[in-house]
Amino acid sequence: MALLPVLCYPDPRLHKVAKPVAQVDERIQKIVADMAETMYEAPGVGLAATQVDIHECIVVIDVSDDQNELMVFINPEIIWASPEKKSWREGCLSAPDYYDEVERPSEIRVKALDIKGKEFELDADGLLAVCLQHELDHLQGKVFVEYLSILKRSRISQKMKKRAKELESQR
Ligand code: ZN
Repeated sequence: MALLPVLCYPDPRLHKVAKPVAQVDERIQKIVADMAETMYEAPGVGLAATQVDIHECIVVIDVSDDQNELMVFINPEIIWASPEKKSWREGCLSAPDYYDEVERPSEIRVKALDIKGKEFELDADGLLAVCLQHELDHLQGKVFVEYLSILKRSRISQKMKKRAKELESQR
């Protein structure tokens, strides 16, 4: 397994649209293992392949308290969303140390393939529903800060660019 570098907003590669996985084979399983390792190391509760510059529809999530319940979603699709919405304070490994409120449907049903390529459906609410919608957005090339005002977004861009420069100078 290997840790993968995570792209940081406003990197244009975060806006690429991921392609569906044609076959869940060893190559995909290795990507999943590396993504899981990267997510746990960060630590984060979710990671989309887009964030590690792999433009295929793969998401890993673990919202458990002990970070020992890995969930894998290949070619995930939201097949139902509740009309009720809820606002959560979201964060993202691609926008480190920034959190803001985003309103999304409070419950969703998702269809996806598991790590063996078997189709499953899942009903999600609470943090899992938020996390799934956030990660599925990444696969469409959308970062959560794009729900915020233009002013906030430009501030975040500046902050992230500054942060990247500081990290660069520490090397
Ligand atoms: Zn994110």
